Amino acid sequence: MRFDSTVVPLPACPSCRGPHWFVPPYIVEHMCGLDDLVLRDRALAALEHGAAVRAVRAFAQQLPSMMALPSPTGRRHRLVYDARGRDALPGTLVRAEGDPATDDPAVDEAYDHSGDTFDFFHDVFGRTSLDDAGMTLVSSVHVGEVDPRGSFQPMSNAFWDGERMAYGDGDGVVFERFTRALDVVGHELTHGVQAYASNLVYRGESGALNEHFADVFGVLVRQWKLGTPAEDASWLVGADILVPARTRRGIRDMEHPGTAYLDDPVLGSDPQPAHMDDIYSGPADAGGVHLNSGIPNRAFVLVAKALGGPAWGTAGAIWYAAMLQLSRTSRFADMAALTAQVAGDRFDAATRRAVRAAWKKVGL
Ligand SMILES: [Zn+2]
Repeated sequence: MRFDSTVVPLPACPSCRGPHWFVPPYIVEHMCGLDDLVLRDRALAALEHGAAVRAVRAFAQQLPSMMALPSPTGRRHRLVYDARGRDALPGTLVRAEGDPATDDPAVDEAYDHSGDTFDFFHDVFGRTSLDDAGMTLVSSVHVGEVDPRGSFQPMSNAFWDGERMAYGDGDGVVFERFTRALDVVGHELTHGVQAYASNLVYRGESGALNEHFADVFGVLVRQWKLGTPAEDASWLVGADILVPARTRRGIRDMEHPGTAYLDDPVLGSDPQPAHMDDIYSGPADAGGVHLNSGIPNRAFVLVAKALGGPAWGTAGAIWYAAMLQLSRTSRFADMAALTAQVAGDRFDAATRRAVRAAWKKVGL
């Protein structure tokens, strides 16, 4: 079958209610146009797999609380399953809370990084798991997907589906194992937190705010774990899941949106805008959820660097409070106003001015 990414009909609303994929659809669609048949077939499989998972998981996304498995102890509780290269989830249980490390790095990374994310939200914000009621963190690793010839291939993506995290092992050409990056695990689990907080509609500006929070807290988990202050920190998202190449540094750059990859033979060039003047207003990517998140991402970095010190401290506290207070349909202007208000109420006038100045720099 000949495949042309411009004529394949995608669902009308590609990801409104489906799982949250880490690799944005515009990268997958770009890869569908490659000359490299192996990578192109993998990308096509990813699109079809995405559609199938979306159909199955739509109900779970609408009712996240029904899918939460409570912790039997009321404390941190992790379960890691091995899908053994297939797409039937969760797979076989291979490591439960308190079990010793295995000799499988994907299993141990999923366990460790979900634990770090739990500890970050608990120790920094006093939140007990994604639902703040101690739900079990369930991960499935070695998830596969069916290619156009009907055989299973390692998934080149990761997703949160309202019930669990699923990680693929990547293609080994562009994408490495998705469990490797703490910020990727933190990003996906923050989508889980989102579902129990403002539950921002995953479309247009509200969806871009949902993506923005996932990037902010995903990166903050890593900075917190490393103890890196804002001025010395990396603001790249997904750097550790990419096979290194001169043309790519990450999937997104929060500080300089639109520069994470440039003329990359597989990924193309990073299309994220960094300012409201360049906001994307078309229908792709659920109305630009992974694109326009570049605008608030840059505002957050400007706030964090203006305030200095650990970004998970003051800037993180303002953003966490905002995430709990926004409504499902909030837009960028609502976020800008709310974060300035929280900064003034919880901190001081200087902090409020820093927040206002940052949003102004990105056109809000
Ligand atoms: Zn996401």
